[in-house]
Amino acid sequence: MSGFSLVIKNARINDTTISDIGINNGKIERIGKLKGADTSIDAKNHYVLSGFVNSHCHLDKSNLLDKMTEDHLGKTLEENRLLLKKLKSSYSSSDIERRATDTIEKMLSKGITAIRTQVDVDPTAGVIPIKSLLKLKEKYKDRAYIELAAFPQEGVVDETKRDLMEKAMELGADVVGGLPLVESKGNERKHLEILFELAKQYNKKLDIQVDETNDPRMSILPEVIKKTKEENFQGRVTVTHAIALSRLPTEKAKEIIQQMKALKINVIVTPSANMITRFAEINDLWIRPSNSITRVTELYDNGINVAIGTDNVRDIFYPFGNCSMIRELHMLVSATRMTTREYIDGAIAMATTNGAKLLGINYGIEEGRQADIIITDGMSKIDILNSDETIPCVIKNGNILSLDENKFQRRNN
Ligand SMILES: [Zn+2]
Repeated sequence: MSGFSLVIKNARINDTTISDIGINNGKIERIGKLKGADTSIDAKNHYVLSGFVNSHCHLDKSNLLDKMTEDHLGKTLEENRLLLKKLKSSYSSSDIERRATDTIEKMLSKGITAIRTQVDVDPTAGVIPIKSLLKLKEKYKDRAYIELAAFPQEGVVDETKRDLMEKAMELGADVVGGLPLVESKGNERKHLEILFELAKQYNKKLDIQVDETNDPRMSILPEVIKKTKEENFQGRVTVTHAIALSRLPTEKAKEIIQQMKALKINVIVTPSANMITRFAEINDLWIRPSNSITRVTELYDNGINVAIGTDNVRDIFYPFGNCSMIRELHMLVSATRMTTREYIDGAIAMATTNGAKLLGINYGIEEGRQADIIITDGMSKIDILNSDETIPCVIKNGNILSLDENKFQRRNN
């Protein structure tokens, strides 16, 4: 008998260190020169990372592309919402479970070991999506950590919609989601108030989709900051998208970032979906769409916990997607010009440990951390981004989920 249930031999744990990783009881027990194990894997000097954390996606909507026709493509955000409502009216549990299962399987094969999914809660489909995803969360509990955010896709101000959100929380949703901009004008603040009430009522964290717009006049982020302070929700609020921040004058943006830092507000960026979003043109004036992604580098420079997600996968809002976090990383570093070594390290942290922080799971390639580990096809972090997006080995809680040595294409020179 050896001391470890699993040892990963010759793992690149940072740019200059190649070591062995000894795993026991689902945890990284030792990193160093190790001998013997019940099972061992040779990483062949490839980079190992914590499992990818997909901090923002919509499993219930994924693969709706199969039900769409060509004339459904290329629409604005608002038009997409109307189309979603139409498709959703024919939802069934089996349909949601089938589409979401395909997506989860694909995410696992791409090295995603933890997922926060937004799940629609609204009068069109009621709590059918939440019930379906709760079933899948249980089914996959040994293979992926899945967190469900109840997402009021059609608003929450109306009493029946709020009741549905309460029902979703009682059924077992983990997080209160939000989308203020879907409310009629003037009701966005009320929407926020209700979200905070729900979060207090069920003692849950908040994850609010804000400012999916390039128009800073429509920004709700300052209101979220104000509420977070008033309600003493420091460290418990995440905002997703926050695109308008990019269009604010730099001085004003700096002020907002400092306030977010003081309140430990997390930010989730969904690079591909953000970049593709088409906004209705203001005053009918055609302007070339500018980058619709938040100030990622400034947020990162100021120590804000930034995580990333794939967002929609093959659906109305984003018809592409192969569940690869490496693809998202590529989009992120390109769109934000995060090309220095420090920023590339930072970007990879956004896809792994920062997401884990947000979900409250103990990730990192360090002793004592959870043994959710992927062996990549990279000898360097740039290599990982330049790889074919395949992940040769995925380990969850110290168990090997997949291993394919043929996927090691990069060789040590
Ligand atoms: Zn989303």
